[in-house]
Amino acid sequence: MNPAPLTTRQQLMDLLTRHPCTARDLASHVHLAERLVEDHLAHIMRSLERSTSQQFVMEEPECQDCGYAFRNRTRLKRPSRCPRCRSEAITSPRFSIVAKQPKGKKGG
Ligand SMILES: [Zn+2]
Repeated sequence: MNPAPLTTRQQLMDLLTRHPCTARDLASHVHLAERLVEDHLAHIMRSLERSTSQQFVMEEPECQDCGYAFRNRTRLKRPSRCPRCRSEAITSPRFSIVAKQPKGKKGG
């Protein structure tokens, strides 16, 4: 008996657990359109919101021309344009899944 093949979502989660990836990286790994990968990511993000052991992390995209950081972004898509300098040279956000630190009573 062969083990069941991983679903696309499981493959994506596997990749994200190993190292941070952009939607494009992931798309080339699982042979899907970037748009569909973003769809999966949205689901993964939502399902991990309830997880106590893992956390979905999105790195902030940044303008390569003026350094503007797109903070507090909730959308997964790369912004098309910098609101400050209008540059379109925006880095792709990278996603990863990291283990949550157990909560200690004292801060480090
Ligand atoms: Zn800029």
